[in-house]
Amino acid sequence: MNDWPKPVVVLSRCLELEPVRYNGQVIPYEFVRELEPWVTYVPICPEVEIGLGVPRDPIRIVAVDGEARLLQPDTGRDVTEEMVGFSDSFLSSLGKVDGFLLKNRSPSCGISDVKIYQGLEKSASSTRGPGFFGGRVLELYPGLAIEDEGRLRNYRIREHFLTKLFALARFRGVKKSDAMRQLVRFHAEQKLTLMAYSQKELRTLGRIVANHEKLRFAEVASAYEQHFQRAFARPPRAPAVINVFEHAAGYFSKQLTKREKAFYRSALQKYRDKRVPLSAVSSILRAWIIRFEEEYLLPQTFFEPYPAELTSISDSGKGRDV
Ligand code: SF4
Repeated sequence: MNDWPKPVVVLSRCLELEPVRYNGQVIPYEFVRELEPWVTYVPICPEVEIGLGVPRDPIRIVAVDGEARLLQPDTGRDVTEEMVGFSDSFLSSLGKVDGFLLKNRSPSCGISDVKIYQGLEKSASSTRGPGFFGGRVLELYPGLAIEDEGRLRNYRIREHFLTKLFALARFRGVKKSDAMRQLVRFHAEQKLTLMAYSQKELRTLGRIVANHEKLRFAEVASAYEQHFQRAFARPPRAPAVINVFEHAAGYFSKQLTKREKAFYRSALQKYRDKRVPLSAVSSILRAWIIRFEEEYLLPQTFFEPYPAELTSISDSGKGRDV
């Protein structure tokens, strides 16, 4: 598979690109450079966009009378309305977009782990939640590939993010084609990926593509998109992925030597033990698919869900469970 779609990704500008943080710094983040040739970035810094300048006094989310406000404690400014207004106007005017790669813990860009202070004093206790811009992203684009750079340091989350990102971008191309045969082909190529992600959504998507009601393409594509995004809501569970590995390995049971089988079993066990990423096992299977020219498995996106060049950055690091 080499006709890669080019996903469109909204990116926090302070990640690797520009020194726009409150302290005039940039966050070094190699992943942004690794991904750069394969995607189109839409860089944005909400705090600069609302005129806070660089450097600037830091802002924080503070619960005031039970309502989250975006405040700049050192100046006493309340920039809640500016940030809400900017977020809504920027996000509602975004054209095609497949994903968001945002800075974690930022009161603006964070998506889940931002401190929400219960008072203005430095020592005030805090809870956690999304930032103002990141939270609006989640509300307006719940089906897209949305992650923060902190979570993406975990290889399983990275694999999931990249798989989803490229699947959504590929589907965008199918939708644009306005051709049912493209959708049928797309669905056939995604079957094993969907089997790993959600058997339920795979069945639903199969019924949608069968289109017994003879609906127009636009209606079919719209229903398909909704369930396709739903299928990718969470990373696949390891037992479901192993099931797909075993299903595929079954195609070669008679052609492989004992040593090859033992090598595969050992890689599978390492995956089960969370010692290697999914790509470590799927690359073994992919080599066999190519060697034996297995027609059904060759076009399956499961074995190469995103460019192989990105796999090296998906093979490092341990981290949180997903
Ligand atoms: S986290 Fe977001 S708002 Fe803060 S500097 Fe980075 S891009 Fe700008």
